[in-house]
Amino acid sequence: MGLNKKSVDDINVKGLRVLCRCDFNVPLKGGVITDENRLVAALPTIKKLIADGGKVILCSHLGKVKTEEDYTTKTLAPVAARLSELLGQEVKFAADREVVGPNAKAAVEAMQDGEVILLENTRFRKEETKNGEAFAKDLASLCDVFVNDAFGTAHRAHCSNVGVSALVDTAVVGYLMQKEIDFLGNAVENPVRPFVAILGGAKVADKLNVISNLLEKCDTLIIGGGMAYTFLKAKGYEIGTSLLDETKVDYCKEMMEKAESLGKQLLLPIDTVCTAEFPNPIDAEIETVVVDSDAIPADKMGMDIGPKTIELYANAVKSAKTVVWNGPMGVFENPILAAGTKAVAAALAETDATTIIGGGDSAAAVNQLGYGAKMSHISTGGGASLEFLEGKELPGVAAANDK
Ligand code: AMP
Repeated sequence: MGLNKKSVDDINVKGLRVLCRCDFNVPLKGGVITDENRLVAALPTIKKLIADGGKVILCSHLGKVKTEEDYTTKTLAPVAARLSELLGQEVKFAADREVVGPNAKAAVEAMQDGEVILLENTRFRKEETKNGEAFAKDLASLCDVFVNDAFGTAHRAHCSNVGVSALVDTAVVGYLMQKEIDFLGNAVENPVRPFVAILGGAKVADKLNVISNLLEKCDTLIIGGGMAYTFLKAKGYEIGTSLLDETKVDYCKEMMEKAESLGKQLLLPIDTVCTAEFPNPIDAEIETVVVDSDAIPADKMGMDIGPKTIELYANAVKSAKTVVWNGPMGVFENPILAAGTKAVAAALAETDATTIIGGGDSAAAVNQLGYGAKMSHISTGGGASLEFLEGKELPGVAAANDK
């Protein structure tokens, strides 16, 4: 995929109407934003467009819109209010059930240079997620220039990222999107070596293409989490009652053969923290026993990597120049089963290598442990970052103009 995209630094939007697709899909409780990281992350691009003297029209989706009630509870009005505070200037909210209806059109018409408005939740329009032409045309009619800064939806072709891009002359990426492309794209396509990739999480089935693609790109692939046990099974080990993707055992064998034929190192847990059952509730006090991975008792389940594995993985990280990590090493929601995930996070925090955290659970774990600032990049998109790691072309990235 061509990753050399035009960005907001390549244009000046003075006097122009610029539509900026952001990711304002924030968690809300009773109309109050409970985590505003995504709003803060969007500010640099918005400030640049204001500083240029553009007429800045922001848009985003918020959750899924299915019921009539969603039109009240999934409104972006609270985001406009909080953004106004964060920017120190009014962000006018263009309340409009049609998103680009009479109210929004009039609000845009009345804009002065340097002003900001926010459109209503793009998913209020049913065509949004189908990339329907009518809504894409409506969005394009509002603007002279389009900026896409929403990485979280870059793996989807919707009206507000892909459809609108095709209908405007100038479609560029914002700073947030640029950073994701620089780190995730370059790590996979052009890494400084040695390149170590760490994959964890629950299931092999969810990460088939990621495993296969990363094996080709990296020097060492480290596997942890629930998915490790299907690999151990493929090696012929007893894995007790550990998580098993029965249908993926052959696939794991294939991947191990692929690693060998490519001369890549594939590291699997050499010891395992086991329990008798899955904790219920997930953070309940639970007894554990550490065993070598080839000696998991038939009545036990592997729930975290053991201390010898932690050392093995931490050493591999130490020798790396680029590290990409996606997915926890164990059932990290339980403090007793979080040591492996914590140790990997700590190893990444200590190294001088470029460290990239895929979105989702590993990003949450790194932030919770207070290591966020120590990482080179924490991706803002779970699904989108995984597709980048699969080597897929992301429609939201591909739609932007090439340099
Ligand atoms: P994913 O969504 O694929 O990244 O998986 C994250 C989930 O994997 C977390 O909720 C973990 O609790 C779970 N997980 C990690 N290791 C294990 C394991 N050994 N057994 C069962 N679940 C696990």
